[in-house]
Amino acid sequence: MKIKEKQKKYGRQDGCVRCGRKRGIIRRYGMHLCRQCFREIAEEMGFKKYS
Ligand SMILES: [Zn+2]
Repeated sequence: MKIKEKQKKYGRQDGCVRCGRKRGIIRRYGMHLCRQCFREIAEEMGFKKYS
């Protein structure tokens, strides 16, 4: 319980800002996204890996 509170202090957003998922969070480019949303947003922003 105490650990959870501590984590809350450090990171306001526990989960993905897009879908709220808490697993596989990537904090990169100032974003806080799960892997799935990161991939989608990365594509939107032009970080295309698959072209
Ligand atoms: Zn997400």
